[in-house]
Amino acid sequence: MIEKTVAEITAALNAGDISSVELTQAYLDRIIRFNDDLNAFITVCTDSALSQAKKADEKRAKGDTSPLLGIPLAHKDIFCTNGVTTSCGSRMLQNFVAPYDATIVEKLYQAGVVMLGKTNMDEFAMGSSNETSYFGPAKNPWDTARVPGGSSGGSAVAVAADLCAVATGTDTGGSIRQPAAFCGITGFKPSYGRVSRWGMIAFASSLDQAGSLSKTAEDAALMTNVMAGLDRKDSTSIDKPVEDYTASLSNSLDGLKIGIPKQHFAEGLSSEVEQAIREALVEYENLGAIIKEIDLPNNHLSVSVYYVIAPAEASANLSRYDGVRYGYRCEDPADLEDMYKRTRSEGFGEEVKRRIMVGTYALSAGFYDAYYRKAQKIRRLIKNDFVDAFKEVDVIIGPTSPHTAFEIGSKTDPVTMYLEDIYTIAVNLAGLPGISIPVGTAEGLPVGMHIVGNDFAEAKVLNVAHLFQQQTDWHRFKPTAFEKES
Ligand code: GLN
Repeated sequence: MIEKTVAEITAALNAGDISSVELTQAYLDRIIRFNDDLNAFITVCTDSALSQAKKADEKRAKGDTSPLLGIPLAHKDIFCTNGVTTSCGSRMLQNFVAPYDATIVEKLYQAGVVMLGKTNMDEFAMGSSNETSYFGPAKNPWDTARVPGGSSGGSAVAVAADLCAVATGTDTGGSIRQPAAFCGITGFKPSYGRVSRWGMIAFASSLDQAGSLSKTAEDAALMTNVMAGLDRKDSTSIDKPVEDYTASLSNSLDGLKIGIPKQHFAEGLSSEVEQAIREALVEYENLGAIIKEIDLPNNHLSVSVYYVIAPAEASANLSRYDGVRYGYRCEDPADLEDMYKRTRSEGFGEEVKRRIMVGTYALSAGFYDAYYRKAQKIRRLIKNDFVDAFKEVDVIIGPTSPHTAFEIGSKTDPVTMYLEDIYTIAVNLAGLPGISIPVGTAEGLPVGMHIVGNDFAEAKVLNVAHLFQQQTDWHRFKPTAFEKES
């Protein structure tokens, strides 16, 4: 049962084939067995998970058949969870126990999920490989010498290795979609504002968005049904009705116009990844879709723009970790300045400090116009490229990442790492919904395909992903070392 999708597990729970307690225990057993190898979980909540499962079984016995009732899930350790450590992958928050639940955590509890624990991540979600985590990198279950992607690497590993049924993640520049691609699962980032950011530790507030890592697009739809919606505690969450994202999953794709950005099939893309994507596109043509090349002329500026805006916002957001309010404080400070300096020097890792310095510089009085304001202007041009493209096409498809998962320790230069998100970052700058689904393998490693929709076209993106998964089996492929019986 652990290898099944949320939709399948729910059917089994409703049929009485298994209880949530049995299922929860099965995942907990696998976590005990494999977490040392995979480092997917930072915190495991054995007792509370079992008691939540028991409650879910009791509710079900009384006739409650809610879609996520009794489903064992994991939260990225960026979401505040009442009474449970929320580290954000950082020494700074290693011992921080949140006094409240993030809105999405609360909503998912209300839907009846069981929280198995909190997953590993790049420190403050800054990274593309999980290697910046204070707790060490999570390992890719397809090859544990390789990264799972990041920053939501732990969540991707946990889903791919069947350590949970589904997981939450966040995506500021690609952190749900890229790890999903590297681990052979489905990762969905809704439009900016669709899901509340309240209680989600802030990295770059104008880009951060919560979403899900799951086995299928159908499961992503089930999660989005619960996670989405206006939240008065997040002024950037949108007051727009939440659709039933499962209702349109099977809509026909006959006549669907798919845009293929020429910039995403250019130099730098691995030929095997390209081939897998091209084969997937044939599948869409068979379903009646029309493929058309499109131009995103400012796409090549997106990584540069992001690495001004995201660090600028991060430098402001992370100023709160000062050793006074909460989080880490250095030992025996000589005076206030010494405390600030040493707390932040010792509490933050290298990458976080690099971002704070870049961001502070970009926002400083003499450089604000040259960097921050300019980046904001180009951000608008990048958005306008999408506005123009969506006048002609319904969705945009390309690779999620230029290549498959790389080896741990193989990328030491920060800029090389930043270029990991070359295909995903523009989508965050434009606030659009995007999903990555597995569409093949290259040398035994999964290849992810990226589907992007117009503003708030979540239903369309999920529909396009779902129909591919109805036609193919790539989402059923498993890393053999962690298969059920092993
Ligand atoms: N890799 C990007 C970064 O390091 C994106 C991370 C994210 O989406 N959280 O900023």
